[in-house]
Amino acid sequence: MCSYYVSNCCGAEIEQLDEEVSNCCSARYYDETHYCSDCKESAVAIDRVCSECGYECEEIEEIEYQAKERENYLEIRQDEQRYRG
Ligand SMILES: [Zn+2]
Ligand SMILES: [Zn+2]
Repeated sequence: MCSYYVSNCCGAEIEQLDEEVSNCCSARYYDETHYCSDCKESAVAIDRVCSECGYECEEIEEIEYQAKERENYLEIRQDEQRYRG
């Protein structure tokens, strides 16, 4: 069984960036200062983003993502039933 990695937000492909960018503006990130070059706020460097929404993402296994989705779905169903009752 083959599993591959997807973004934890959309379950989409992960884009590996050539250089690190800030997690706030996707602007260049300066290692020495730990600041974003755009908004000058302290930022965290990321080098992979979700190809779907373009935001910072964790990479998780696709099965893991599906499990998470299923959990969310079940939770929503439970909530609905709770409010209805
Ligand atoms: Zn995403
Ligand atoms: Zn910024």
